[in-house]
Amino acid sequence: MVKKAEPKKILFCDLTRQHQRIKPEIDAAINRVFSSGCFILGAEVELFEREFAQYCGCGFGVGVSCGTEAIYISLLTCGVKPKDEVITVANAGVPTISAITLADATPVFVDIDPKSYNIDPNKIEKKITARTKIILPVHLYGQCADMDPIISMSKKYGLKVIEDACQAHGAMYKGKKAGSIGDMGCFSFYPTKNLGGYGDGGMITTNDNLSAKRARALRNYGQDEAYKSEGKGINSRLDEIHAAILRAKLKYLDDWNKERRQAASLYNERIFNQLIDKPTQRLYGVHVCHLYVIRCKARDALQSHLKRKGIQTLVHYPMPAYSQKAYAELRNDNRCPITERYSKEVLSLPLYTGITKTEIYFISDVLNKFVK
Ligand SMILES: *Cc1c(COP(=O)(O)O)cnc(C)c1O
Repeated sequence: MVKKAEPKKILFCDLTRQHQRIKPEIDAAINRVFSSGCFILGAEVELFEREFAQYCGCGFGVGVSCGTEAIYISLLTCGVKPKDEVITVANAGVPTISAITLADATPVFVDIDPKSYNIDPNKIEKKITARTKIILPVHLYGQCADMDPIISMSKKYGLKVIEDACQAHGAMYKGKKAGSIGDMGCFSFYPTKNLGGYGDGGMITTNDNLSAKRARALRNYGQDEAYKSEGKGINSRLDEIHAAILRAKLKYLDDWNKERRQAASLYNERIFNQLIDKPTQRLYGVHVCHLYVIRCKARDALQSHLKRKGIQTLVHYPMPAYSQKAYAELRNDNRCPITERYSKEVLSLPLYTGITKTEIYFISDVLNKFVK
């Protein structure tokens, strides 16, 4: 008897494919650092800060340990004090919220625009109080939030704007790069991000010299120069080894973003199941498709259906941040109905550098065969 072939497993993200393409360059970068004998705050970090800032159209880059600390340090740099309020979204996972609460500030949640899944600028103003210090939009799934009304609101009320661009390396808003629009931009180089390292890493971008200086001190025990701390700080440095690897990968970011967009277009073309809502792209910018997120009222059944066919999917994110046990105290004044509904409907499909057409066709076919 002939056994039916098991369908091949399709991972949500397979980073080995990207690595295979550039292995010699990664090896060279690592060897360069090993031979230099310098591992902390040396030439690689300095060069990468400059190169990444330039890529983002920003004057300054400050390398840090991860995206969460990029946000934390940006908040402190902007002068956030305990009990200050930071306006943000509840649909972007916990790292952003953990950075805000680590700074002893209070996250205030605004519901999302149902089309872009990003903060709804029309709902910000009524959340502004005497305590509000910062508006912190998240450019979710690779698409910029609608920044113009956010910037005007911040000017009207004297607030600072910090962009969480951890999912938006290279994304554009009306001709400007993510991370260059607000007062400060925050990036993560977590391995699966559009620009991902081989470990944790992050970057703060800004056009303000003084903010860059402050952030630089904050990430290094508060030291402005060796062994002199004018203010308090922490250790949140980007390692030389990660900077060297990320420099090698930055050259490919635009190509890889293009590849992600092509993969997303293929999904858009191929998926026609009426039970599924496909993502929409706003006309004001360039989406870098960090995630390809569909919605389905029967999300859990759809996810199981895909799993049976060997297709791994994830949910970004399964509950609003204020529904997490850790943030239960934020719940009362902060309910966001669209965020809550979408958390039960969203499903992220496999999309990464090196995913093949055949795989996307297969996944789309499986999706199209799903019935309630
Ligand atoms: C990944 C991510 C972060 C946190 O980055 P880490 O490097 O993992 O700390 C913050 N915000 C968003 C939206 C992210 O996707």
